[in-house]
Amino acid sequence: MIVIRNARILGGEPRDILIANGLISEIGAGLGGDTVIEADGLIALPGLVDLHTHLREPGREDAETVETGTRAAAMGGFTAVHAMANTSPVADTAGVVEQVWRRGQEAGHCDVHPVGAVTSGLEGKHLAELGAMADSQARVRVFSDDGKCVSDAVLMRRALEYVKAFDGVVAQHAQEPRLTEGAQLNEGEVSGRLGLTGWPAVAEEAIIARDCLLAAHVGSRLHVCHVSTAGSVEIIRWAKSKGWNVTAEVTPHHLLLTDSCAEASPVGPYNPIYKVNPPLRTQEDVTALREALADGTIDCVATDHAPHPVEDKETEWAAAAMGMIGLETALSVVQEAMVETGLLDWAGVADRMSVRPARIGRLSGQGLPLEVGAPANITLYDPAVRTPVDPTAMVSRSRNTPYEGLTLPGRVVATILRGRPTVLDGKLV
Ligand SMILES: [Zn+2]
Repeated sequence: MIVIRNARILGGEPRDILIANGLISEIGAGLGGDTVIEADGLIALPGLVDLHTHLREPGREDAETVETGTRAAAMGGFTAVHAMANTSPVADTAGVVEQVWRRGQEAGHCDVHPVGAVTSGLEGKHLAELGAMADSQARVRVFSDDGKCVSDAVLMRRALEYVKAFDGVVAQHAQEPRLTEGAQLNEGEVSGRLGLTGWPAVAEEAIIARDCLLAAHVGSRLHVCHVSTAGSVEIIRWAKSKGWNVTAEVTPHHLLLTDSCAEASPVGPYNPIYKVNPPLRTQEDVTALREALADGTIDCVATDHAPHPVEDKETEWAAAAMGMIGLETALSVVQEAMVETGLLDWAGVADRMSVRPARIGRLSGQGLPLEVGAPANITLYDPAVRTPVDPTAMVSRSRNTPYEGLTLPGRVVATILRGRPTVLDGKLV
């Protein structure tokens, strides 16, 4: 039996949490156990759940593997991640999703829930084997061509209709392909000054509007990946006001960084560490995204952890790969952007980073309140420290963090997966 002593559940008064047989067996004062985790000053949150992680396996094990990516997840306080389908081969069959799911079980650092591709080979031509993936051991419920947009309206409609049979959800990477050909950076003043091809907000917003209408038309569930513009927020707010079954996520980096980073980074302009899809937007967009996450228009935070090897990032802007790692810094960035600003309390953070993403992914044993009888999926977090981000200290196989040298608040001290610590004293167990 493990006892966590003096943890502040969701930031409340200090309590002891007793864990037995993988469950929370008692919450109170003066509890005893065989193993004691001292948690003075630490906040206890339900284990974090990520709807959007790129683990890169199979195919790009030089960037990340299920083993290294789930270690990074545990270090970031996550007890479950959804692994995106844009691997090589693509996760578009029962065989591939079961392979990823099994690798997650073997690694054991957190639960791995494979996302199934919507279309075969992410080619946008034919629906993948959605039913077979749903029925597989991996029990896929989230389907996405992430990295690419399901731009064909007929295919998108069919996918939305198909997933209804097993209460699945289509997670759309909203990017109108013709409007973003060769696009490099948010279309605006900064892209103009830097001479980089603009990536207009309308390319995201047009797809979101269309998909909300399609989801309403067929009565299905739509999830919008990595919302990045104020206009997208308005459309999602409207769709929700209609009672349509639309959910949305925002990444930590879109809550903190703007396109001006590409112009004014510490090492000069055109630093491709800031190149990401969708692109960093403006301060007005960041403000709208924060407000939308606070008022629930955007349901959750998802990392879009996108590891790339050095040679794919440290090159000229136009040639560099798009993406940033984010698992190990997500909670700190959310504290900086949402808690320090007074927009969310710790209960709100738990809701947006654990409860709601688990619900959207239809996970049964994750995202549950820290109550007696619940699975002991717990993150212990110290919000009081502030440390500069050091990429060399990270456990992800890749180093492409945009926060290097930035001082961020907070530190994950322990992560507990069904009663078993995966991280203790800020180190992997
Ligand atoms: Zn994406």
